[in-house]
Formats: sequence, C-alpha cells, structure tokens
Amino acid sequence: MPSRSALSSVPDFAAELNEQQLAAVTSDARFSLVIAGAGSGKTRTLTYRVAWLLSQGVPGWRVLLLTFTNKAAREMLERVHNLIGAEAGEIWGGTFHSIANRILRRHAELLGYRPGFSIMDTDDQKALVRSLVKKHVGKLNKTLAFPKGDVLLNLHSLAVNTMRSLHQTLSEEAPHLLKHEETISRILEDYTARKRDANAMDFDDLLVNTLKLLQEHAAVQELYRERFLHVLVDEYQDTNALQDSIIKQLCGGTRTGLMAVGDDAQSIYSWRGAQVEHIFEFSAHFPGAVIYKIETNYRSVPAILDISNAAIARNERRYVKNLRPSRPAGKSLPLIIPAPDNRIEAQFVAHTIEQLIDGGMNGSDIAVLYRAHFHCLDVQMELTRRHIPFRVTSGLRFFEQAHVKDIIAYLRLLSNPHDEMAFRRIAAMLPRVGEAGANKMWQAWLHELEIYENGHPGEPLRDYTGVMTRGGGGGVKVPAAAQVDWLSFLATMTSLRPADHELTPAEMITRVLQDVESSFSTRYENYEERLEDIEQLSRSMSDADGLDDFLTQVALLSEADRDEVTESSDCVTLSTIHQAKGLEWKAVFIIFLGEGMFPHYRTIQSGDSREMEEENRLFYVAVTRAQDLLFLSYPRYNGHSTDSHFSPPSQFLTSLPPELYELGEA
Ligand code: ATP
Ligand code: MG
Repeated sequence: MPSRSALSSVPDFAAELNEQQLAAVTSDARFSLVIAGAGSGKTRTLTYRVAWLLSQGVPGWRVLLLTFTNKAAREMLERVHNLIGAEAGEIWGGTFHSIANRILRRHAELLGYRPGFSIMDTDDQKALVRSLVKKHVGKLNKTLAFPKGDVLLNLHSLAVNTMRSLHQTLSEEAPHLLKHEETISRILEDYTARKRDANAMDFDDLLVNTLKLLQEHAAVQELYRERFLHVLVDEYQDTNALQDSIIKQLCGGTRTGLMAVGDDAQSIYSWRGAQVEHIFEFSAHFPGAVIYKIETNYRSVPAILDISNAAIARNERRYVKNLRPSRPAGKSLPLIIPAPDNRIEAQFVAHTIEQLIDGGMNGSDIAVLYRAHFHCLDVQMELTRRHIPFRVTSGLRFFEQAHVKDIIAYLRLLSNPHDEMAFRRIAAMLPRVGEAGANKMWQAWLHELEIYENGHPGEPLRDYTGVMTRGGGGGVKVPAAAQVDWLSFLATMTSLRPADHELTPAEMITRVLQDVESSFSTRYENYEERLEDIEQLSRSMSDADGLDDFLTQVALLSEADRDEVTESSDCVTLSTIHQAKGLEWKAVFIIFLGEGMFPHYRTIQSGDSREMEEENRLFYVAVTRAQDLLFLSYPRYNGHSTDSHFSPPSQFLTSLPPELYELGEA
C-alpha cells in the first residue's frame, strides 16, 4: 500500500470545499448518499472524495468510479489526477458498460464464452435481427405488418434493462404488438442463440452477464468485493434495475463502501428504465446509510437559480431541497422570448449568439438545448448561414438521418428521375426487394424513362403510373409482395406534379409522408418522432422558392453537415436536454418552449401527472445548465402564419412568477 507521501500533492480539502461538501468527502460511513440540487457540486464532491480516499492511503486500484458517460469518467479522473497525481491512473472509472466489459474480459469463460468474445455494435445487432425476422416471418403471410428488427431490439433492450419479461414489456410498452408475441419470442431466442454461437455479446449482455457472474460465481463475487473498498456512483437517480443490482452485488459483502450522488429532481430516464426509487430506498437497502445534503449552488447566478427553484417547486413527488446561491447577482434577469415563428426564433438565437461571440464569449461557452432533436433544425440552418461553428451532440445532424433521406429521395427523384441513389433508397423501402431486385428495377426504370424522354423532349415526366406500368411486357416489375406499395409510390409521384399547378415543396413533403407513413411505422421504432421530424422539415423549408431551390438548400446544408468539427475547436453546442445532463455553460438557450412542444402534447393529452412531472424535471435540468445567461424562447407558430400550428407558451413558462424574468422580443 502506498504511503501518503507517495502522492504528489494533496489538495486543501477544507479550503476548496464548503462544510457540507467536506462532510461528505471525508465521511467515515460505509454507505452514504449525497442528495443535492443541480450545480451544488455533487460531481465535484465525488471527485474530491476519490482524492480524499487516496490521500488516506487507499490504493487507486481499490476504487471504482461509475459515471454516466465515459467522457465524464475521463474528466473526473483527469481532475483527480490534477488534484493528487499519478496514483489516479489505477482507478477503475467509466460507465457501467465499460466496467462490465473489463470484468467480463477476465471471467466470461465461466459463463461458457470462449476467450476474446466480441462486442456487437448496433449495426451488427440490427443486421442479425433483421435476418432473423426474414427467416421467421418470411414463411408467414407476406402482407403481415410485422415490426422491423430495430423495433424488436429496442423492446428487447427495455425488457432486459428493466428486468421485465417480454410479455410484460409488450403489454406495457407496445400492446399493439402482443398479437405477434409468439413469433417475437422465437426470434429473440434465436437471436440469443446466434450471439452465443458467434461468441459475441451486445451492450445489454455486458450488464446481464456481469450480474450473472456476480450472482452465480461466488469466487468472482468475492474477488471484486475484496478488491473494491469503495464504489462511487454519479447521477444515481438515473440508474436502472440492472445497474442497481450490480451495485448491490458489489457492495453486498461486509466491507465495500458505497457513495452515491444524485438529485431526484433530475431523474429523466424513466423511459429507458431508470428508477428514481433507488434514491428513495437507499437507506432501506443499505443499513446505516448516512444522507448528506449540499445546499449551496455554485453554478448559476441567483436570478437563474430562482427560475430553477420555481420550476421544480411545481412537482409534488420529490425531496424538498433548499438551494442558496453563492454567486453575486448578475446584471439581468433571464429572458423569455416569444417569436412569431420557428424561423424567427432561430434567427434570434443565432443573432444573439453572434453578439455574444462578438462580445468576447467563446462559442464553447454557449449551448442551445431542446426537448427533441428535430427542434434544432432551424437553428442549424441559421448558424450555418452565419458561419458560426457548432457541434450537434443530440444525434445525427438533421440531413444524415435515414428517414429524412427517405423523404428527400422522393423529391430528388422527382426533380431528377435519373438519380440512381434516390431510386435505390426508395426501392429498398419496398417489401422483399433486395439488391438484385433493385438492380433490375433500376434498369427497367431507366429504359422506360428513356422511351418517354425520346417521345417528349424537354417535358418533365408527370404520369409515373402510366409510364412505369406500361402494358405489353414493358414497365418496371416488382415482387408480388411489393406490388401494392410500388403502385402507391407511383401514384404519389404522379400526384406531386399536377398538370394545372405547381405544389410547394412543403405540400410535396406532406403527400410523400402519407405514402411512407405505414412503412415508417414498421421500419422505425420511434416512428412518431420521425414523423414530427419530417413535419418540421416541411415547415422549416416553407420559404423555399420551388423544388430545385429546396433541394439546393438541403444539399448545401448537408454539405455543411459533413464539415468535421473537432472536439477541441471552439464551437457552440446543440444538444437535447437529456444529453446535457451534468454539464454547464455560461449562456444557455432553451428553444421550442411552446405548449405541446415542451411539455409534449402526448404528455398533456395523457393527463398522467407522473409523466408531466418527468417533463418538468427535464425543464429543470435544462435551466440548471446555465451559469450567467438564460434565454427561454418559443415560436408562436411552428411553420408559417397560414398553417394551424399555433402554440401558446409552455405551461412551464406561464407558471413562472413574472418578477423572475423579463420579456424579450425576437
Ligand atoms: P449537476 O446536478 O448538474 O450534475 P453538480 O451538483 O454535480 O451538478 P458540479 O458540476 O459538481 O455540480 O458543480 C457545479 C459548478 O460549481 C462547477 O463549476 C464546480 O466546479 C463549482 N463548484 C462546486 N462546489 C464548489 C466550491 N465549493 N467552490 C467553488 N466552486 C464550486
Ligand atoms: Mg454532476
């Protein structure tokens, strides 16, 4: 065991922490829970706790640090390293998945795996399940609306992470699929067997198998209970049943200590199986647990803190926590900005960002946060126009998303019927059309097209159905199972170019959407969200001057999408609120705060107060990311003023006491 003198430096704990933090950091209790509001220094406390343990002679290798992302773990270990020196390198730190992987690398053979198991990435998983759906459903009725592999994978994963049976999960999450339960179950059994044969694990297996190892192999359990003297967990409110069971296994012996830090008010992952109850049941499960509270907020200026406190006060189900500001009052109140529509909202955001940057702020000190990925489309466009570099952490950039490309493919093909890539994309959406089938279809398509063009030089093709289904051996042949969809596609294409008037790109998108809607519902697991994406696309592009202008705009934006921005470069962050957990920025914009956008209209319609409280926690997480400046905006109309997407301000805004904010103008 290294002596204290082996440490390069020991921080001055008492000077760098407040009393409440210091109490937690230096705690003697075997089990402790730090429960405190946002920005109170929970993560900082955990970091200093590690440094404290090391300064007390605990070797790094006997400490396990579990965080929500690997990046968070790296940052914390870097900070520990700065606090304490090289000793930090020995610590096991990372996400549950990465730690599970480390454990399994040593012992997976006990579970019947061969050495060097591989980890399947999402693409591998999807490919495997898709092939199994084909195998099992191919024999059944071809027109059966059976869910795609991705949908099955998602449900499977949810079942695993919440430790529920398939039946229960289907009943609770997707009752419309219960009629397929038997087949789904056979496919998933086959999936498990095939993974085994391949000596491979998917992400969920990492957790499942680690738990299994610990539960069923006493020697392994003993080994890790012996090894880890201290387990530390950040963001404890968002652990799911499986992760919680792993913690309980590791800490279930006679001496491993546990310090968990969290904030019940920031629990925002129940849809992925997280259970905030773990926080409430902590003392019951870990006898003698000491609960520490931290009540000083270091992150935000008092005006922002007032908004946060008012927001979370709306929830009934919570630990009541007082948060006192430590920072002096700022110059201005948070702004609420009603914008006439989504584009003007985006212009306001981009313009204000420009001013902040001109005023000396770094782009990396600024974030735009939103509830759903598609909300950031307009801001992406405005930032691109103004050449302000940004990074989108909420997922793929808008035009890289498969379903957006699906829709654009129709319009590209309409504008240019020789566009082979667009054609192939559409063909791939048809049932039972593979690569070879798509090749044949493309050749036939080209053939018919050329005949038409020779007969009608300079005239755009309007009657797709007539030209492409020519009798007498001509036309494009498709498998019987695809016939209905194919004819519907041709009819849609025909309807996009009426003889007597021009449709706007937005109107075209609406028609295409009707055509792909049913295929989306089986292709994509979250198809309702994806439909919202497309609707947003049509609203945001409603100023395009005709089809070609629209496609040019899309192409240029997609090009900008491809500009690689490196991690270190100074760019503005665009992120969903979920992805922004634990982080902080000087200036934060929260957009699309219209009633029905955030909170989501489905939550409003459901009338479920638990769901509404989770939405409100999400709002709380969002406002608590801000240090100095907070802008809350919403579009009165999402679209242009002739459509019906009128939106009043979110109830999260209207319920704020008016003395806490100022009204701005976009
Ligand atoms: P969240 O709930 O959002 O995860 P948190 O409780 O983990 O927040 P931290 O991120 O640890 O809060 O801290 C918020 C900010 O306050 C950080 O910039 C941190 O360095 C600073 N801070 C925390 N405690 C102190 C302190 N005692 N002295 C100075 N700064 C502090
Ligand atoms: Mg934190």
